[in-house]
Amino acid sequence: MSTPRPTGTPVTSDAGGPVVARTRTELRTARADLTGGDVAVVMTMGALHEGHLTLIETARRKAAHVVVTIFLNPLQFGPREDLSRYPRTFDSDMEICRTAGVDLVFAPTPDVIYQDGDPGVRVSAGPLGNVLEGQARPGHFDGMLTVVAKLLHLTGADSAYFGQKDAQQLLLIRRMVRDLDFPVDVVSVPTVREADGLAMSSRNTYLTDSDREVALCLSKALRAGAAAAAEGPSAIRRAARSVLVREPLALVDYLVLVHPSTLEDVPEWYRGEALLAVAGRVGTTRLIDNLPLLVGPGGRALEVFTDVA
Ligand code: AMP
Repeated sequence: MSTPRPTGTPVTSDAGGPVVARTRTELRTARADLTGGDVAVVMTMGALHEGHLTLIETARRKAAHVVVTIFLNPLQFGPREDLSRYPRTFDSDMEICRTAGVDLVFAPTPDVIYQDGDPGVRVSAGPLGNVLEGQARPGHFDGMLTVVAKLLHLTGADSAYFGQKDAQQLLLIRRMVRDLDFPVDVVSVPTVREADGLAMSSRNTYLTDSDREVALCLSKALRAGAAAAAEGPSAIRRAARSVLVREPLALVDYLVLVHPSTLEDVPEWYRGEALLAVAGRVGTTRLIDNLPLLVGPGGRALEVFTDVA
């Protein structure tokens, strides 16, 4: 019979994989062992795929230690959203973390993060949290920023890696860090795609084969927009829209070309970096995708924005 583990002792895997912390005490103990260099954090909701892996590998290359958080944050899901059916794949998540050389996985339950139930005090995303995804998902960004703030404090990370895939989330995290003086460096990582262009997402597992075909119109529309980037905003919007209208089974919520830091539609004379973003429902699944673009002379798709604050 194995000896019971003293409470608060993080679990170390036999194969030299990541230490797993489930409680605050376990995290504190394991975090204290990450000495002699900086610590990067990659925050996830689990169901890890190559997009997450790329964040981890980028962090691994730049920082001495990498912490991955796996936490399905109830605060950022609306009452009619997919919290209960969200994929949970802890064992394969751990395998990915092990092969990627993650030092520490923090995988708490909601009662560990929200010790007194739903927090009365939350981070407010402000006006940028009410447009695009925020309009479709009221309260989502306040819930997201609240948990990101808590996980930054709990992990004590020096840097945090986020995907361009969730462009509005990334912008709001940068704003929170700037506006509330968090001592952390935020790093953007380009969107990782399937070979056919579909942006990787944990929610892609909901798609049937025929949904998946339909879903391709989102990334195709973005590419069509990018191909018109030299011609200016209305040409970009027209090119992207012409792809979407040919796919009636994609229920498009929005297709926008907006300024990367204000999220306001860019006017026709605008030249410079802009975000071409799309959201829609395919079958039962809401999908989002985007491309950062350079609009005007030399117009093209970019991997991430160069000058967003
Ligand atoms: P999630 O588990 O969906 O909350 O995502 C955790 C992190 O992974 C976020 O910073 C996402 O932006 C990022 N991410 C998700 N999908 C991708 C992708 N296809 N490419 C790059 N980053 C991604």
